[in-house]
Parts: sequence; C-alpha cells; structure tokens
Amino acid sequence: MSRRLRRREFLGMAAAPLLQVPLRGMATPKIKDVSVITTAPAGVRLIVVKVTTDQDGLYGYGCATFTQRADLVVEAVNRYLKPLVLGRPTDAIGDLWSAMYNSSYWRNGPVLNNAISGVDQALWDIKGRQAGMPVYELLGGKCRRAAMIYTHAAGREINETIDQARKLMSGGAKAVRLQVGIPGNAAYGAPGGGQGQSSGNTTQEDPTFDPDAYVRRTLQLFEAARKELGPEIYLLHDVHERVPPRTAVQFAKDMEQYRLFFLEDLLSPEDIQYFHQIRAHCTTPLAMGELFNSPHEWKMLIRESLIDYIRVHVSQSGGLTPAWKMAVMANEFNVRTAWHGPGDVSPIGHCANVTLDLVSPNFGIQEWTFPNDHIQEIFTGYPVVRDGYVYANEKPGWGIEINETAAAKYPFGSERGERKKLNGGWGIVRTPDGTVINQ
Ligand code: MG
Repeated sequence: MSRRLRRREFLGMAAAPLLQVPLRGMATPKIKDVSVITTAPAGVRLIVVKVTTDQDGLYGYGCATFTQRADLVVEAVNRYLKPLVLGRPTDAIGDLWSAMYNSSYWRNGPVLNNAISGVDQALWDIKGRQAGMPVYELLGGKCRRAAMIYTHAAGREINETIDQARKLMSGGAKAVRLQVGIPGNAAYGAPGGGQGQSSGNTTQEDPTFDPDAYVRRTLQLFEAARKELGPEIYLLHDVHERVPPRTAVQFAKDMEQYRLFFLEDLLSPEDIQYFHQIRAHCTTPLAMGELFNSPHEWKMLIRESLIDYIRVHVSQSGGLTPAWKMAVMANEFNVRTAWHGPGDVSPIGHCANVTLDLVSPNFGIQEWTFPNDHIQEIFTGYPVVRDGYVYANEKPGWGIEINETAAAKYPFGSERGERKKLNGGWGIVRTPDGTVINQ
C-alpha cells in the first residue's frame, strides 16, 4: 500500500470519494431515502422528489416535473438516481449534481435532467432547512423586494383577449401575455386551439395551424391592444415556435411597432441560428429557451447577445444548480431571466423560480400560474402575488410543505380529454397540407 493511499484512508476519504464538509458545528446529513410524489391536482401531472436524511425531521423537496413523459422521470429517479445517492452526504450539492449528470454517460436529455433537478432542488431545500434560512439567503440574499409577474389573456376573438387583459390590469397586473384564436385554426394558447383541446374541425383527426393566418391575426390583435390598452402596459406574446424561420424574421420586424416587453420562442431550438438575421432587422425584444435542455443550446445565444431574455424551464435544465450558473453567465452579457412558469411546474419549482428572480441582478420578469384549491390543499407555502409582484415566503428552504395524503387524491390518469388519452403527452398539430409542425 502506498504512503499516499494510507494517508487517504486515514482521512476517511477512500470509502467516500465525494466531499464531506459539515456545516459549522453540524454533523453531515446522509441521504437515507429518496421517494417520488406524483399528483395531478390541476389536470397536469406534477412530479416532486423527496430526499430524506438520517437526521430527524430533515428532508427536502425538488421539482422534477416533465409532464409529457412523467412516468419515465419517476423510473429514472427510483431506478437510477436513488441507488447512486443513497448514503451520500447532502452537503456538497454541486459535487453530487456532477455525479448524477455523469451517471448516464449520455446526458442532457429532458427525462434525466428533470430527475436530477428533483434531487438537486431537494438538496438545496435541505441545506436551507439546516441553516434555518430561505434558499435565496444561501445564494447571497435578495437584490429586490419582489418579482414582477405576467399572466395570460386569451380569447377566441380579439375583443375577448383585450377584455381579459383589462380585467388583469384592474387587478394590478403590470404585464400581460396576449394570445388569440384564429378561425379554423388551432392557435397556441387560445381557447379552441391549445394543446389537449379540440380544434373544432371534425373532418381531420389532428388540429391544423396556418402560419400566415396566424401572423395576420396576431398583428391585428396587437394593433387593437395598443389602441385600447394604452402605451404603458407591458405586452408579451408567445409564438411557440410555430412559424417557419423566414416568416419569423418578417413577423418580428412587423411587431416592432407595438413595443413588446418580449416576443417569446419565435424559433424552434433547431433554428436558433436565425436569431442573427432577426437581430439585424429589428429591435423587438426576444425571449427564448423553454425547450432548452443543455448549455450547448443557451451558451451561444447569451455569449453573442442574440436574445434579451433566457426563459429556460429550470427543472428541464437540471435544477437550481445549473440555472443559477446560467443566470450568472447571462448577467455578464446583459441577458435577463424570465424562467418558464406555467402549470406544468410544481409549487416547489415555482419557489425555485422566485428564488432565482430575487437573487439575480439581471432578473427580467416571471411567468406566473395561480394555484387552484386542490394545489393549495396539497402544497402550503405557495408564494403570494400582490399588485403584480410575487413575494417569496420567508421560511427555511423553499418554505413549502406537502400533504402526501391529499396529493394521492389526484393520481396520474385522473386528467380529462387528450391529456389522459396520450398519458400526459403533447398532441400533434399540422399545417393545412398535413405536415406535422414543431410546437
Ligand atoms: Mg412559452
């Protein structure tokens, strides 16, 4: 035995290759159990990982929600990450994140990234509970009191969308996303055309979407919205990657006059090189990224300042650990954050979003989903919105507790319609000639 190895054994390192650095005066907690909580209280499948330690009453929760392949995330946690992390110390989060990330050899996929996020965010929760501090304190503390949010206004007709926006504004909203239906089309984010809903066209199995009709209708929407809602309200719009790149370039240019807060997901992740052209032709602020999985996708856009807002789905990127690094990198290039915050993010994930919002100098805006009564029956501690801003709860960790008995009342499969038929999957939309489109 070499002298070096004997020294490693003496230090207790040979048996435990991961770092073990106890917090001041505290014994290092070890991971005793990993379990998965699955529930669909709003008709959307949510996944939360619970990591339990060997210390009495010390546990944490992490969002692992990938609703379109929810069953696979559950298996990835139970069959792959759990055996890897059991018995490991909870202290070195970055170290354990790297171990999980490398444990499949092939990496950067949404199933495994969400599974990693579940454990990662649970470890941050544990560290916050240990310290008696909210996670935002562990990241250096708040740099703002609260985070500006936006919610969605969407009608079948333009006047319905504008009426909804007015109601939101009278409730204190500072920013509203506008979407509108298109007669005979499945318009993203609008009644009668969104995912899991019928297009109303009974002659075809899958809903259809005409990009040119969409562009004409959306320009009409924003012309009317600026006239009727005034110049001050922040307006947003989500293209949801449904138009071809050459249409996208012209559309961004034509939308410039309506002075959007941002235009979201104008391109598919596969077409991001077109952002060079869009940047060269207009000043419309651009937000991108809810489908991104990997640094390979966002690094170039940030480094070359080709977008204004990075809006990744935090659990899809692998959790708080990589998202925090992304926010720090974006700050260096004046790209702001707008983390994805729809209904397929669990309340734990919304808390992670708000945490990043509060600690990032380059925060932009937060998409927000208000919880229904069933969600609030399960999750206590959901952040509170007042006058268009969301405030974190001030409790240790994420500050969320989960009633698992209540969660079990809304099992996967209890959803309705298309979502149930496709086992939570995403439906198909076709162009008028029958081609499947990215959306
Ligand atoms: Mg979106």
